Amino acid sequence: MLAENCIFCKIVRNDIPSKIIYENDETLAFLDIFPIAEGHTIVVPKKHYENIEAIPDEILISVIKIVKKLATLLHDKLNFEGYNILQNNFKAAGQVVQHFHFHIIPRNFNDSRFRLAIPREQAIEEDLDQILKIIKG
Ligand code: 5GP
Ligand code: ZN
Repeated sequence: MLAENCIFCKIVRNDIPSKIIYENDETLAFLDIFPIAEGHTIVVPKKHYENIEAIPDEILISVIKIVKKLATLLHDKLNFEGYNILQNNFKAAGQVVQHFHFHIIPRNFNDSRFRLAIPREQAIEEDLDQILKIIKG
């Protein structure tokens, strides 16, 4: 995707408005327009990189530092009990905007709009060994 057509690049350039909560030379953080919960925040590098494989390590480090800072700030200021840091890569994983970003998603014990469903079916050891062989091979 070209940066000119990218919705987050447009937000960075201020071509479209957003509710910015933090900004520095490399990073911008703004409220998600379709929030899963109050305070749902998106943190992006100002430069356009499509996903975690494309973003240079130094910039990734700057962005994750801001994610930590803002997660702590939001947790302090808003009344929620926990939060998920989410980062989707490629369409199959639910990435809709092809500009690298983190979500900070506030959570409460009684919420139901967002859930990580961890399967309870334990793996067969031989299957794990086979995958391990492929990964390390
Ligand atoms: P993804 O599914 O790509 O990880 O998440 C993209 C996120 O960006 C979604 O949660 C969506 O609500 C948010 N989003 C998409 N367009 C806009 C926009 O124009 N403004 C803001 N503030 N958020 C947006
Ligand atoms: Zn972009």
